[in-house]
Amino acid sequence: QIMKVQAEPRVIPVVVHVLHNGTSIGVEANISDAQILSQIRVLNEDFRRKNADAIRTPAEFLPVAADANIEFVLAKQDPNGLPTNGIIRKQGPKTVYGPEDATIIGQTSQWNPEEYLNVWVVPLVSPYLGYATFPTSNLPGLNFAPSAAIRDGVTVDYLFFGTGAGTAANTNGRTATHEVGHWLNLRHIWGDATCGNDLVSDTPSHNAANYGCPSFPHYSTCSSTPVEMTMNYMDYTYDACMYMFTLDQKSRMQATFGSGGGRNSFAQP
Ligand code: ZN
Ligand code: CA
Repeated sequence: QIMKVQAEPRVIPVVVHVLHNGTSIGVEANISDAQILSQIRVLNEDFRRKNADAIRTPAEFLPVAADANIEFVLAKQDPNGLPTNGIIRKQGPKTVYGPEDATIIGQTSQWNPEEYLNVWVVPLVSPYLGYATFPTSNLPGLNFAPSAAIRDGVTVDYLFFGTGAGTAANTNGRTATHEVGHWLNLRHIWGDATCGNDLVSDTPSHNAANYGCPSFPHYSTCSSTPVEMTMNYMDYTYDACMYMFTLDQKSRMQATFGSGGGRNSFAQP
C-alpha cells in the first residue's frame, strides 16, 4: 500500500444514455455530443470548485466551501472492454417519462452501476428536471424510489442537461450537479422537512427549499436563525444562483467510496 500525502481526485467513469424519440442527432431529445460534453465540463468544475461563479461565495461561507475532489470522465471502455465514447443513443420506449419510469429507463439501457455512473438523458414530464438514486436504499424520509440496481444512476431532462445550445434558457448544468450529489449520498439542504436535518453539520438549517435567486442574506427562522446557504447545490435555487458544496458535504460524498460505503465499487487502488 502506498501512502498518499495528497489525495488524488476520485475519477468516476460516466456513461450517458440518450433516450430519444427517433430524431437525428442534435434534434430535440437526441442531444448533441457537444451538449453532453458541456455537462461533463460543468460537473468537473462544480465538484472541483473550479466553477467561475465560486467567487460569488459570501465571506461567511468561504471557510466551509469545498473542492469535493471528484472528477468525471466519459467512459473509454464499455462493459466488454471495447473502446467507446461513453455515449449511447437509443430510441426510448416512451415519448415522455416520469420518476415512476426509472425501471423502464434502466431496462432500456444501463451499464453495470458498480462500474459506471449511469446518466440517462430523456424527455421528463413537467415539473421534473431530474432525479437520482441514493447509494443505499434504507435512508428514511426521502421522496425518491428506493435504489435498485436497475435504477441506479441519474436522470436529467434533455433541456436541462449541460449548458448552451440545446438547453433551456438560463440552464447552467446544475441539475446534474445536484442529482450527482444525491447519487453520492447528499440530501437536500433543508432535510426534506421544515428545518429538517441534512446530516451535514456545516450547512445551516433551512426552513424549506429555496427557489429562484434569493437575495443575501436570507435568514432562516429555524433554531438560532442562521443565514441560509441558498447557493448550495443541494437547494432548489436557479442554476445561476448555486455555486458551492461544503467540506462536510465533501466528507459525506467521499465516505461513500470508503469501506462499506455505497459507492465503494468506485474506489481506486
Ligand atoms: Zn434533489
Ligand atoms: Ca445541516
